[in-house]
Amino acid sequence: MTAPTTSLDPTAPHPAIASIPTGLLIDGQWREAVGGRVFDVENPATGDVLAAVADASPADGDAALAAAVGAQTSWARTAPRHRSEILRRAYDLVMDRQQLLAEVMTLEMGKPLAEAMGEVAYAAEFLRWFSEEAVRVSGDHTTTGDGANRIIVTREPVGPCVLITPWNFPLAMGTRKIAPAVAAGCTMVLKPAPQTPLSSLALAAILQESGLPAGVLNVVNTTDASTVVERWMTSGTARKVSFTGSTGVGKILLRQAAETVMRSSMELGGNAPFVVCADADLDTAVDGAMAAKMRNMGEACTAANRMYVHRDLAAAFSDRLAARMAALTVGNGLDDDTEVGPLIDSAARAKVQRLVDDALARGATALTGGRLPDGPGYFYPPTVLADVAAESELMTTEVFGPVAPVIPFDDEDEVIDRANDTDWGLVGYLFTQDVDRAFDLSERLDVGMVGVNTGVVSNPAAPFGGVKQSGLGREGGRVGIDEFLEYKYLAVPRRRGR
Ligand code: ADP
Repeated sequence: MTAPTTSLDPTAPHPAIASIPTGLLIDGQWREAVGGRVFDVENPATGDVLAAVADASPADGDAALAAAVGAQTSWARTAPRHRSEILRRAYDLVMDRQQLLAEVMTLEMGKPLAEAMGEVAYAAEFLRWFSEEAVRVSGDHTTTGDGANRIIVTREPVGPCVLITPWNFPLAMGTRKIAPAVAAGCTMVLKPAPQTPLSSLALAAILQESGLPAGVLNVVNTTDASTVVERWMTSGTARKVSFTGSTGVGKILLRQAAETVMRSSMELGGNAPFVVCADADLDTAVDGAMAAKMRNMGEACTAANRMYVHRDLAAAFSDRLAARMAALTVGNGLDDDTEVGPLIDSAARAKVQRLVDDALARGATALTGGRLPDGPGYFYPPTVLADVAAESELMTTEVFGPVAPVIPFDDEDEVIDRANDTDWGLVGYLFTQDVDRAFDLSERLDVGMVGVNTGVVSNPAAPFGGVKQSGLGREGGRVGIDEFLEYKYLAVPRRRGR
């Protein structure tokens, strides 16, 4: 008998998958869904079914929220150090199982194994960061202006939370919400994306093993998100929603949140401008473009969506970028040499192709890529488009794929106007060797984050988030835990005459 390997065996579940629970986690118990309903999880590289996971009904969702509500009071009273140590143990376990978690992620989501390993480490960092923040929540103590009252400001957990995560970073988007909620003393219901439930289930099992009490984290996978989540949002018992996903769904949730005046954190879409000034270092700019465009096959809200390059550099930049993109190896993420995996599903790929076809029809030139490959899996080739017309749909729509449109510009004021001419404002990228220009243009970009001479901004120690329709609130950094805390102030009169 041969030992299991990481290659796909079409007849047996992959060994990494076999170790993951597939039920609903409600009040510390792994349960089947009402009626035993399940849905299939597909490998986007092959189309194979990887596993069947429990498909929660609205009644299951209600039970999960009831468990979170039931656990809230006692959980809020636990010592910060206790919560901190649970998160720290979870960090250690995630890192101990980095390879296994990465394989699960690659199988269900498609990203190359090296990127999945990177995401597991990034996801684990949120557990470590918030284990450190759990014991650093501070308040304030002052007096009123007339000296009559003490003002004592404390922080309390906001209460049971609804956490909804997307499929593109299946583990990190979970830890970025779960870790600050745990640190703050909140309980929660988590609804992962139906394309990638397994990473969240593996994480939940690790948190249980780390000592998280029953009911604090409840995990509900479902194909009926709209019903299950609406019931949570309008329950009146959930006090906070934290969502990462599309702007359209974010708006639905904000409307629902209005019904019960829930605290809301929203990480929504982006349409990131990537601006290369005439004085930029070309090598740095091309490296930055590869990172900002190709991380996660372009399936990231931080992905550079529009590359504005000064006319003096546009041709050289496009040629070098096209050469780098064309040299990437596209394939199954579990294969050693793969640098670009498949897109998540056929709808995602069809959208990318539609946007590319629209740009080509309006006069753009494909320097590389632009055509669908044959064969199984939802692969799309790395694509560079030159001379993309301003009216192309690609300019106003998040492509969420490995497509880099390059648009020449002549003047800084013009490029800032074009960069800001969008409803989104998550991140912008800026390449220049002039420090004054770097500060000036970063201040003029209407975004929550700017990468200056870098294509990577995400870090657990930094406040991640956007302005305009890219969202509300920040995740990570010193402020990440604030999203899960309320202020309470005590007015205490001072005795007079002493
Ligand atoms: P994408 O288009 O990238 O899949 P979505 O915004 O549709 O992004 O999905 C992000 C998350 O929101 C997923 O977990 C998805 O199941 C969930 N979701 C989708 N529709 C709704 C809805 N009506 N109410 C609550 N959650 C939803």
